Order: sequence, then C-alpha cells, then structure tokens
Amino acid sequence: MTHTKFVFVTGGVVSSLGKGIVAASLGRLLKARGYTATVLKFDPYINVDPGTMNPYQHGEVFVTDDGAETDLDLGHYERFMDTNLSRLNNVTAGRIYQSVIAKERKGDYLGATVQVIPHVTDEIKARITEAAHATAPDVMICEVGGTVGDIEGLPFLEAIRQFRYDVGFKNTCMVHVTLLPYLKTSGELKTKPSQHSVNTLRSIGIQPDVLVCRTEQPVSKNEALKLAQFTNVDPEAVIQCRDQAILYEVPLALESEGLAIRVLEKLGMHDVAQKAPELTNWQALVDGLKRPAKTLRVAIAGKYTELSDAYLSVIEALKHGAAQHGAEVKIAWIDTEHCKNEQATEQELAGVCGLVIPGGFGYRGVEGKIQAIKYAREKKLPFLGLCMGLQCATIEYARHVAGLPLANSTEFEEETLHPVIALMDSQRKLTHKGGTMRLGLYPCHLSGGSLAQQAYGADVVMERHRHRFEFNNDYREALVQSGLVISGMSPDRQLVEIVELPQAVHPWFLATQFHPEFKSRPDRAHPLFASFMAAASANADLALTSTTAVVS
Ligand code: GLN
Repeated sequence: MTHTKFVFVTGGVVSSLGKGIVAASLGRLLKARGYTATVLKFDPYINVDPGTMNPYQHGEVFVTDDGAETDLDLGHYERFMDTNLSRLNNVTAGRIYQSVIAKERKGDYLGATVQVIPHVTDEIKARITEAAHATAPDVMICEVGGTVGDIEGLPFLEAIRQFRYDVGFKNTCMVHVTLLPYLKTSGELKTKPSQHSVNTLRSIGIQPDVLVCRTEQPVSKNEALKLAQFTNVDPEAVIQCRDQAILYEVPLALESEGLAIRVLEKLGMHDVAQKAPELTNWQALVDGLKRPAKTLRVAIAGKYTELSDAYLSVIEALKHGAAQHGAEVKIAWIDTEHCKNEQATEQELAGVCGLVIPGGFGYRGVEGKIQAIKYAREKKLPFLGLCMGLQCATIEYARHVAGLPLANSTEFEEETLHPVIALMDSQRKLTHKGGTMRLGLYPCHLSGGSLAQQAYGADVVMERHRHRFEFNNDYREALVQSGLVISGMSPDRQLVEIVELPQAVHPWFLATQFHPEFKSRPDRAHPLFASFMAAASANADLALTSTTAVVS
C-alpha cells in the first residue's frame, strides 16, 4: 500500500449535494489518465448496513458481487469507474461500533476505557487501510457521508484528520463539496453557507485543498476569489460544478473545470507532460445520450413511485439499454394500487412500450402488479420482471393460465393453498433480518435457444441476488406443462433463476430472480436490458405504424 495516495471527500451546507457523483467522476478522471483508483464510502448512521432500511429513508440498496448490501453511491462508483466493488468499500458507523464492541467483549482492549478517540477512530482508520490494501490502487477516494456539522459524522472527520497526519500531508487531498445557493430576487450566488461550512471543518482541524461548488448559475471570477480568500483555498482550486442535464456529463464538466489536475497537483502526481485523459468513449456516450433518435416510454410499477432513488440502478440500466439503440427512456411511474381491474390497468399502461416490475418487499401493491403483468402478457407488451417481478409473474401465470386461481407467495399469504413462491428451508429457521437474505453472485445456467440465452449470448452467467423467497419446485411441473419456460437455473437445477414465455407466444416476456440492473454500465448495457429495450423500441415502432394507419 506504500504508494497509495488518499483523497477525502466531505460535504457541506446540505445533504443530497451529489458528493457521490463528484467522487465517482473524480475516479473516472483518474482512471482516464491511467491511474488505478477505488472508492470507500463511510456512512455515519448506526445501522450496520442499509439492508434493513426503508427505501424512503435511504433510496436503493446496492448489492455488490460479494453480497454486501450497500449505499446507492456504490452503484455510481461502479458505473462511472467501471469497476466491481465489495463489502470493504462501504462502512457504516454501525459496523465500526459493532467491531469495537466485539473486540471489547473479547478482551482485546483489556484494561482500557474504550473511547471514541482512539478506539473508534482507530477502527475507522483501519477500514481505510484495509480497503486500500485489498487492491493497492494509486489513489483511494474516501467519501464521508452526511454533512459537516452532523454530530454522528465527527468520529469520521477526526479519523481522516488523524489519517492525513499519519500518512503525510503530501499523500492526501481534502475535497469539500458545497452548495452556492442562488437568490433569484437579488440575482446573486451566496457564498456565506460555504464559508461557514469550511469554518466548521477547520475548527476540527481539516483545511480543504479543493472546493467543489454545486451551483445552478455560473460562478464569476469575483465570487470564486471571494470564496478562496475566506476559505483559505487556492483560487484555482475553487471548482464549479454546474447542474448537468445528463448525469454522465458530470465527469466531463469537472474535467474542463480542472478538478483532476488540482487533486493530482496536491498529491504530487501531476505530470505536466502527461497525455490528455482518455475520455473519447465517454464523450461519445454523452453525445449519444444528448441526441437520442427517439424517446421510449417504459412503465415501472413499484411501491415507491414518488422516490425514483429507490429504483436508481433499474432506471440507469434502462437508460443504458435505450442508449444502445440510440434512444432515450422516459419512465412512466405506475401506482399499482390503481390497477384494480383490467380497465384501470389498461388506462395506467396506456402509451407505454414496455413494463418493468422491479424488486420489492411486502404485499402492498402486489395485486396491481399481477394485474399489470396479466395485461402485458395478454397484450404482448414487452415485460421485464426483476426479483419480486419474477415472483409476481409466476403467481400471475399460475392463477390465470395454470388453473391455480388461489396461487400466491407465502410472503403475502402465509397459509396460501398454492404457495408457488415460498421460503427455502434454509431461510425458515432464521430469526435475524439483517444480512440474512440470499445475497450476491450466484451462477445461472441458461437453456439453449431461450430468449435469455440469445440475449446474453452465453450459457452460464453470474448475477447478483437479494431475496428470501424462491420459486417453489413443487409447482414446477404444473407451470411448465401449462407453457411457462424455465430458462435459467442454478447449476444443481434446484433454484429457478429465470422464467420466460416462448417467443412464438410473446415477443419479450422474461423475469429474473436476480438483479441484473446492478451489473449494467453506461457504455455496456446489461444484455437483458439491451434486449428488453430493443423489444420495447420495436413495440413503439409498431404502435406508431398502427396509429398512423388509423389516422390516414
Ligand atoms: N420480497 C421478495 C423476497 O424476499 C423479493 C425481494 C426482491 O425483490 N429483492 O424474496
């Protein structure tokens, strides 16, 4: 780890500033210069991981290959930096305290009073070192969640202050992301909240080296100078970060503002003779996203329709899939509680060219999801089910095609007569909720000639999971007999991973027990999302020709 240098990213003024996007963009800009980089996100809340949190509190839970349930920023890091992260890359205060307390119980601190400083801060520093050791990158970016001034963030800020001291100032760079609010009435950008936020940081011994200022309006030279003077930051290192219409444009905007160069200078890594960063493909990606040939309206029918962050990776994967066909996607959020009958469902789904049922937990809205799937199946609307989406598609097929009208999942109705989705034995005995689902990468064997195999162009794939309930094998024969195709299975053929309909019956109807959305990349859409969007696009063209025919 001797060569690894460290960038710490903190946030000021308000939450939801896009610190994660800034950290991810910086990672991409370093990689574009040929450096290796990784990111560690600290979350100062007491939950051991976000796995047990309501999406309204936290947004999506992002799952890594090794089955860690992590903050959604890890999704940004993976997508922007095209890298696979692990449980080492997201650490919460809960996890820190859990291991400090476990060590205390074991007797590791025998004789000592266990305190925030040094025991908690040492544990935090050990996590930084551990994550850096794992891949020994040139640069490790470490983002501290929350806002400077939060009580719970203090141990993390103290730990990074010490860490900087331990590894040497020249090996670290402090980036503070802040907000410049714009007052419309006076037509001014206000710098005072940022000054206060930097003062708070400095009062705990951290002087930022770079300020990244989120702003709706351009920052004038005078405003930048004023900020620099009051915050003691080099004027050149006051970087503006304007809102961008396209998320993937942020790295390019920050590159033109000189973020990476300022950071590399601070780390003593900037080489003036260095070639320009390799961003040609990224630029092409953004150019394509800016000029889509068509717009595709795709429905997402989930429970958290007011909070798109709850389905962040699904939305991004749909965008990647659409971009692969030169299109953009507009999401139609379907409140499945409105899908009470066929007519209402038809109205809800009017004008969409595809339907996605994403992952979810609990019964609310499930009957509407089943109605929506029935509609998609009968009307040949392209359908992609993800995790709970597969479970609902199975219930729908059992009820309306396989002659099992009372079929259900035991998650929704414990004593159901036909539990087509049920708990595995291994899950039945569990009493703890946290971290006990089937999590992370598992292999899946695809059937020859299936839609899944065609889409992937492979026979075996590895995909990420996060669920407790499974397709019940007692009903496999009945469902297959009535026409459902099981096209993906675990290697021992015990677990159903993909169901689909034959292409002769439906142009694109497929559902997965896993979450393909976590592996999609902006310049390499996940094969299932690419294939689904191709079908949605064909469906949109078809709808267009039929309406044109009616009009003419
Ligand atoms: N609630 C379902 C289960 O636990 C589906 C989970 C999901 O969609 N991620 O199996």
